[in-house]
Amino acid sequence: MEERYVLRRLQRVSGEEIDIVVEDGKIVQITGAGQAQGEVKWDGNAQPAYVSSGWIDMHVHAFPEFDPYGDEIDEIGVKQGVATIVDAGSCGADRIGDLVASGKQADTNLLAFLNISRIGLKRIDELSELSWIDREEVKRAISNHRDSIIGLKARISQSVVKGNGTEPLRIARGLSEETGLPLMVHIGSAPPDIRDVIPLLERKDVITHYLNGKVNNLFDGSGEPLQVLTEAISRGVHLDVGHGTASFSFRVAEAAKGHGIHPDTISTDIYRGNRMNGPVYSMSSVLSKFLYLGYSLEEVIAAVTSRAASWLGKEELGRIQIGDPANLTLFAVKEQATELVDSEGEKRTADRCIEAKGVIVHGKFIECEVRA
Ligand SMILES: [Zn+2]
Repeated sequence: MEERYVLRRLQRVSGEEIDIVVEDGKIVQITGAGQAQGEVKWDGNAQPAYVSSGWIDMHVHAFPEFDPYGDEIDEIGVKQGVATIVDAGSCGADRIGDLVASGKQADTNLLAFLNISRIGLKRIDELSELSWIDREEVKRAISNHRDSIIGLKARISQSVVKGNGTEPLRIARGLSEETGLPLMVHIGSAPPDIRDVIPLLERKDVITHYLNGKVNNLFDGSGEPLQVLTEAISRGVHLDVGHGTASFSFRVAEAAKGHGIHPDTISTDIYRGNRMNGPVYSMSSVLSKFLYLGYSLEEVIAAVTSRAASWLGKEELGRIQIGDPANLTLFAVKEQATELVDSEGEKRTADRCIEAKGVIVHGKFIECEVRA
């Protein structure tokens, strides 16, 4: 089926206004605003919107069967303006095949970190039994799903590892070396002490929840970054937000920004509960918090487009270029007072907010469902 349409007068975060022509799922033309010919699918004259490459959420939970950390792929993907989601270790070797299969049925692109525990988030203490880390099963899963698995996930906090301390992380480190895949490490409450966790991370590994406000966080009582954090940044360790129900604090985020410690990627850690009841709600809501913190629109959008794509080694997902598959997010920045709440229940009032309008993925235009 041949389909051609025009996205008229969209603004890039740089300020440039363009028309984009999509044909057979690909970007075939980019012109100055108002110059492209053809059937208009979106008219920025009537509905002003920004355009970026399709948003990428580096930390979600997209395996609905698992409770509490699960949700439907498209609910946390295209319906929120997110073209590509990266499931953050919902599944280990036992169920990754099911997750990948359901990703193929969805409109949203799905990639995944493989939980090093074969049971994944079937239980929420998935690293409390070391026998659940099966090296052979990890390697088999990776070879079966090479296109989907982009890293390994290890949740290293007290409720997950119980009495095992950093041992699961040491095993994860070995698996990373054997498979060539980087680690995403969730941090949280001690034990293990954060000062024993972070030194085990290497270049390209990801710390998710780096702005959490728990006792065992990455900043001291006066908001100074711990030495293990600044050393990790120098090594090239990647900082990911992973907002979640319990892992984003305005107080910590302000301290971090004050010390020049910025997110490499902004992600939600979204699942059913924190989507419906907050404090996450949506990718737009999380992005609005970073605008509130004083990051520019360009910086905020780069953290869900080019920077994420670059970490993934999939540069085509983070650019708008003729010849590429159409992978775009349309969004607005509304000048209106908006109440934002963090994971500590602390509230801030922002004077503008981001609202996702639509996604083009696999050539298909999907309008977003906006939360009332
Ligand atoms: Zn998570």
